[in-house]
Amino acid sequence: MNRVSVDTAGRPPSVDALARELANRHSLPHAILVDCARRAIANSSAQQVTQRADQLATEFAQSLLREVVNATGVLLHTNLGRAPIEIHTSDRAANLELNMLTGERGSRQETVGKLLALLCGAESAIVVNNNAAAVLLVVAALANARDVAVSRGESVEIGGNFRIPEVTEQSGARLVDVGTTNRTRLRDYKKAIDKRGNDIALVLKVHPSNYRVSGFVEDTPMRELATLPVPVVADIGSGLVDNTCPWLEGRTPAWLANEPAARQTLSDGAALVMFSGDKLFGGPQCGVIAGRADLVDACAQHPLARALRPGSLTMIAMQSLALSYLGRTVTTDVAFWKMANISVSELQLRAEKIIRAAQVGDVCSLDSIPGAGSAPGATIASAGVVIAGDHLTKLRNRELPIIARVKDSKTYFDLRTVRSEDDHLLIDALRNLVE
Ligand SMILES: *Cc1c(COP(=O)(O)O)cnc(C)c1O
Repeated sequence: MNRVSVDTAGRPPSVDALARELANRHSLPHAILVDCARRAIANSSAQQVTQRADQLATEFAQSLLREVVNATGVLLHTNLGRAPIEIHTSDRAANLELNMLTGERGSRQETVGKLLALLCGAESAIVVNNNAAAVLLVVAALANARDVAVSRGESVEIGGNFRIPEVTEQSGARLVDVGTTNRTRLRDYKKAIDKRGNDIALVLKVHPSNYRVSGFVEDTPMRELATLPVPVVADIGSGLVDNTCPWLEGRTPAWLANEPAARQTLSDGAALVMFSGDKLFGGPQCGVIAGRADLVDACAQHPLARALRPGSLTMIAMQSLALSYLGRTVTTDVAFWKMANISVSELQLRAEKIIRAAQVGDVCSLDSIPGAGSAPGATIASAGVVIAGDHLTKLRNRELPIIARVKDSKTYFDLRTVRSEDDHLLIDALRNLVE
């Protein structure tokens, strides 16, 4: 490896010579290799400079965004981009804002919004960059510097610094705390609304996605909140569109039992629901606002809407997903629902095949989890392969990295989150680990 490292006088190589040497082993742009060479020369001895530069280039290549195999059993893995999606587009233009009937300027939200509204049983819907943006926009547009009432039990932080009090404040509204941490009843909301000095424009109900309080707890159901004299908007979080799951022929899986759904929350009287596109909806990163047409329109007209609008890739992916839901084909063409719907016996068969081909490992029963704060506490029975030892680093360093899970010095591959087309990659990796 010490091809250019030290000349006869013991001097380090020039940055340029070292960068050109690195190009023999790393297919990275010259500017990046120059940077690696420069850092290596600055920080290592003449003898170690080539080795160090190689290491820096390898580390950089490994840090690049790329495909990985998710064998963790976490269906919506936050570190792996939540819902995996497939987008087919070419570099042709798309009619993002062209009205095809009139030939005039149109809205990117119109058709996708219509499809989402149909799915959720809403009058209208729009898509923004994520659910945090949806909540921000709803509060900014509808509370408009007035007060927003939130139950103390729902004034939560949801991963990655999404904190209800701070989002409300950033929207220019004032948060009014209602009830107590563990119990908030309808009369607490009524009292807050009646109190002189409050100017409550909106009640915000938040699904505390990523944790669960047990014991002496009570929240106020949407049906009761809907009797209040101000609009009630609900951040339902993970974006189950309908808890009767018509796309699963109406068989709602047990793990979804406690998850709020857009259609039912709206029919219980919410004025709006907000949810993420990349959690249980199974789509790209985005947020959906659905409900009363006048309120959705007020959000769409707000100046922030322009800053929060998604691009054509997101809108195309959301359209294709909404069509899959409406056509009831999600279990064959949406990765998340494919993963969620596959039977344990099928996973066991795949595990047996993998083990037979790799000549190593055992079949094991596992519990997958929905992930990304969806359906907290719920698990989905699964199966996979287990081998002795912690092999995470080696698996992660493969050309197509495999992200597995380690417990008690054993490495587990949960097959629920692995595409069956990728089973051969696990076979290769397992063979490689025992060689
Ligand atoms: C996940 C989640 C958010 C944040 O959504 P992003 O799409 O990540 O911005 C907000 N509220 C709830 C209840 C959530 O579950």
